[in-house]
Amino acid sequence: MKIYRHFIDGQYVDPIGGNWIDSINPYTGQAWAKVPQGCARDADRAAQAASRALRSGPWAAMNPTARGKLMLRLADVIAANADRLAEIEVRDNGKLLSEMASQVKYHPEWWRYFGGLADKIEGAVVPIDKPDMFAFTRHEPVGVVAAITAWNSPLLFIAWKCAAALAAGCTIVAKPSEFASASTLEFAALTKEAGLPDGVFNVITGYGHEAGSALVDHPDVAKVTFTGSDATGAKIYAQAAKGLKRVSLELGGKSPNIVFADADLAAAAAGVVSGIFAATGQTCIAGSRLLVQNSIKDAFVARLVELGRTARKGDPMQADTNIGPVTTQPQYRKILDYIAVAQQEGARCVLGGGPAQDLPGGQFVEPTIFVDVQPDMRIAREEVFGPVLSVIGFEDEAEAVRMANDTIYGLAAGVWTKDMGRAIRLSSALRAGTVWVNTYRAVSYMMPFGGMKHSGIGRESGLQAIREFLETKSVWISTSDAVPQNPFVLR
Ligand code: NAD
Repeated sequence: MKIYRHFIDGQYVDPIGGNWIDSINPYTGQAWAKVPQGCARDADRAAQAASRALRSGPWAAMNPTARGKLMLRLADVIAANADRLAEIEVRDNGKLLSEMASQVKYHPEWWRYFGGLADKIEGAVVPIDKPDMFAFTRHEPVGVVAAITAWNSPLLFIAWKCAAALAAGCTIVAKPSEFASASTLEFAALTKEAGLPDGVFNVITGYGHEAGSALVDHPDVAKVTFTGSDATGAKIYAQAAKGLKRVSLELGGKSPNIVFADADLAAAAAGVVSGIFAATGQTCIAGSRLLVQNSIKDAFVARLVELGRTARKGDPMQADTNIGPVTTQPQYRKILDYIAVAQQEGARCVLGGGPAQDLPGGQFVEPTIFVDVQPDMRIAREEVFGPVLSVIGFEDEAEAVRMANDTIYGLAAGVWTKDMGRAIRLSSALRAGTVWVNTYRAVSYMMPFGGMKHSGIGRESGLQAIREFLETKSVWISTSDAVPQNPFVLR
């Protein structure tokens, strides 16, 4: 069994409390590794290391061009290790190797994009309205960043958060999910191999209420960037408020996938299936509410049932598997509970509706589709985070928009139509951080990603993401030798 250790100040170190957590392979149900159960003292050690690296030593003294070059080197090191990292992700979170391999191979692009940005963080000379003044702005790193991540795509979240944070000149303590920590701990060694100075990127692992919470509270942590559930996000937001820390939150969703009768229905069906059954539905952007125009509803659902029925469940390491296990036992139970709730509420199950039998590990759920769903049912309103689709019919565009926006969430939305005028109207009317038209589940290092309403605060990826890790300083310089006439008034 592989024994992992925290990564602090450039070294792998044992947890101070001497405790470890088993990391379970969701496909086999067996423990395959142990990761440290970090405590407040580990968090303190890591935050202090990050704080030292921020204030003194090679990182603090490094010019942004050199910083960017290190990030480009890291991109190459990640690329050289991508296959190995992808396999670790699969062993840890049970998602398909085909999905994780493409994610990890794409990962270096975040480091290249933000590495290139590191020396383009420019302030401005302000054409100031006051006489005898020279005024300019500079953008400085916000400080030590705590990056707390979820289990579904650990390394992708590290890229989304940490590439922008390091480009800004921050230092980091990452705290991956207790359910899938191994890949982030392995990644830490690559930062050292690429030449990142000690203390710039640290990883502690452990439970959220213990290691995670201690990081949020730590006085040396200036900013918390979090990916996870809205319940935990709200807790972290409140806790960080006590220290007036900066916070970015990437949270959950109940994203609508809206199919109009004029759409290319084969493409729409593939998009809806990808939105809800890919990654076994364990994605924040899951298109878990299908809003479909009444005139095509039954025929469209029949297509989905056919596609869902032929999806192959099995070993996530195999290239021909479409549906892997659910990552965690609590999540598995939660999905089955929601299926029971939907049935009690009167929704009608037309596909799946329970555990998949005869597979190892005991954590497979059948791809599931409910019809006759009413917009006020829990299955239509709450995030399941599993392969469970709720189908709701609509008459016209106005009703579709109203239903789509009738949610506390606002992470993403899909629109399927050949009418470009309608596509443009909906891309403006939908209250979601991302709107996909005639596609779904597309992401890029260049495109801002994040949520409105309960789906989050702030954006990752794209040029503006770097602002989440910068403070703006205004500098005023008097160009006059004269003594101010009246020191008691505002200048
Ligand atoms: P979670 O909220 O249970 O845990 C996320 C992380 O927070 C873990 O590392 C956990 O240890 C830590 N944590 C828990 N309690 C904490 C506390 N009190 N203080 C500090 N840290 C704490 O979420 P999860 O179950 O790991 O992930 C699933 C959720 O994440 C879903 O809701 C999903 O929609 C969301 N998600 C969002 C995005 C996005 O980019 N918007 C991406 C993926 C997942």
